[in-house]
Amino acid sequence: MIPYSRQSINKDDLSAVLAVLKSDIITQGNVVEEFEKEIAKYLGIKYVITFNSATSALYTAYKILDYKGFEFITTPLTFCATSNMMLNLGIKPIFCEIDNLGNIDTFKIEKLINKNTRAIVSVDYAGISVDVYKIIEICKRYNLSFISDSSHSFGGEYKGRKIGQFADMSIFSFHALKPITTIEGGAIVTNNKDFYKKALLIRSHGIIKNELWDSQLDFTGFNFRLSDVASALGISQLKRLEGFIEKRAKIANFYNLAFKDNPFFSTLEIPKHIKSSHHLYPILLNQKLWKHKKAIFKDLLDKGIGIQVHYKPLYQYNLYKNHAKLQSAECFYNAEISIPCHQKMSLKDARFVAKNLLKILKKYR
Ligand SMILES: *Cc1c(COP(=O)(O)O)cnc(C)c1O
Repeated sequence: MIPYSRQSINKDDLSAVLAVLKSDIITQGNVVEEFEKEIAKYLGIKYVITFNSATSALYTAYKILDYKGFEFITTPLTFCATSNMMLNLGIKPIFCEIDNLGNIDTFKIEKLINKNTRAIVSVDYAGISVDVYKIIEICKRYNLSFISDSSHSFGGEYKGRKIGQFADMSIFSFHALKPITTIEGGAIVTNNKDFYKKALLIRSHGIIKNELWDSQLDFTGFNFRLSDVASALGISQLKRLEGFIEKRAKIANFYNLAFKDNPFFSTLEIPKHIKSSHHLYPILLNQKLWKHKKAIFKDLLDKGIGIQVHYKPLYQYNLYKNHAKLQSAECFYNAEISIPCHQKMSLKDARFVAKNLLKILKKYR
């Protein structure tokens, strides 16, 4: 089976992990901070706070804003954690229409803004940045916070600047299938010192250290910490990130050529000013094929081609079912299949995927 995504762990990763694992301190020594400094340098950002997952990081970012009872405008085409963490804090997610890249439709945001709106939470679907300047402009006009769930887009760029530089807080995931991995892990990046200080407290029980053994508590925090061992893997993976992105770009470019003018589906047209991390390679089936999607999905699996669908719109889940359906998200969901695109596969694998995908689809014409 060629999986739709897979981590790449090499000898350097292994020896970096082993070195810290054999050392005296494996939880919270200097390695976490070292990893954070490396990320900050790479992204050109002031503050980086790592977490044991992007879910913890999202929870913390929303908690810092402290808007219980208010509304955040977000996308329905994302992993459930993006909006679940709002519910955990008593924040109401308002789902917005999406554009043809699968990102929040920035032209549909303003009509959702009311006196209870406090933030826009976007997702860089598949690794392609949202239109950050447009969102910043809306946030300025209505005095809203901009949170970017950039779990897909670590290493991506918008107009030559790294993703992570634009929102008030950007969140990355280091889960095994994300652009780099610490096994499980995540981060908030920000240029706001106050957010940084609050994030540190929430991450570690809310404990404020006083003198010697003495400490103080003003609120209940969590243990959302990443370990030194995981951070060692992160530092090693960060060195490999550009290579990973190049490899995924090569696969994606091969697909783009192989699928040019095919009669079955379209692919995402990445704007020239955006550098994608190529976290996913989504194809969008033509409407005539939607009714065969289950059969196509099964045929692909039978052929040894790992695929996935990103994502079932969140308002279709029981948890969100009092939210209205959105036409654009419905169409995208009906059409979308993510095919294998990752650093562990070869061009030969990509050729196999492309050839068999087209062959299978021919059956359903
Ligand atoms: C993976 C993902 C998350 C959650 O990341 P974890 O590190 O697994 O908690 C959140 N949002 C999006 C868009 C994701 O893809």
